[in-house]
Amino acid sequence: SLTTPRPLIAGNWKMFGLEASLDEARAVAAAVSARPPAARVAICPPATLLHRMAQAMAGEAVIVGGQDCHPAEAGPHTGDISAAMLADAGARLVILGHSERRAAYQESDALVAAKVEAALAAGLEPIVCFGETCDQRDAGQAEAVVTGMARGSLPASLAGQAFAVAYEPVWAIGTGRTPTPADIEHVHQALRGVLVERFGDHGASVPILYGGSVKPDNARQILATPEVGGALVGGASLTAADFLAIIAAA
Ligand code: PGA
Repeated sequence: SLTTPRPLIAGNWKMFGLEASLDEARAVAAAVSARPPAARVAICPPATLLHRMAQAMAGEAVIVGGQDCHPAEAGPHTGDISAAMLADAGARLVILGHSERRAAYQESDALVAAKVEAALAAGLEPIVCFGETCDQRDAGQAEAVVTGMARGSLPASLAGQAFAVAYEPVWAIGTGRTPTPADIEHVHQALRGVLVERFGDHGASVPILYGGSVKPDNARQILATPEVGGALVGGASLTAADFLAIIAAA
């Protein structure tokens, strides 16, 4: 029989955080280590903080992750960071295909899939993100867009590997707007279908996170929604109090 993995609550700090912000991560780690929650907890800081955060989190129950990686292992790619470098700095997972990167850098599904391969080669657990825009939802295309992105962004080499996916509607990110629980469940069920079609029994147990304006006041309802296996949290992950409230809701 399949075991349901623990939910994953991952904080995405985006391009926020200087050294002083490590105090927030330390406060999260202290609370999580003192009273282990039901969920696994991760924080993905900007790359400049990764190594210091990983050192601060050593021996704590908080996983540290990157926010992106280059598909190549090394090479002449000024300004880029490889998956091996993230792992070397202490990362154990990496967010890939976030909508902000897809929009700002025209990241295609094929590129995201190549990044997933690079992450796996470096021993990182990828969190692969998909989501529809406001126009696509209004046009009734949310499910088709999200499942299409999933098919294009999840390489076959994920079979048997530890990974998660995240449904993040673009119109819900940073806006304070969220889909209804029924809408989240509907898209997550469609994603589950893709995961099972692709990966069989393993696909049935891959956590499907929800992301987009997850806050302390809506976390309990969202995390109780069928097929929601955790949350990818942006703004509310920047302060320990808010992030801990979301972790406690899992
Ligand atoms: P938000 O961001 O929680 O600030 O909406 C979520 C994300 O982009 O992962």
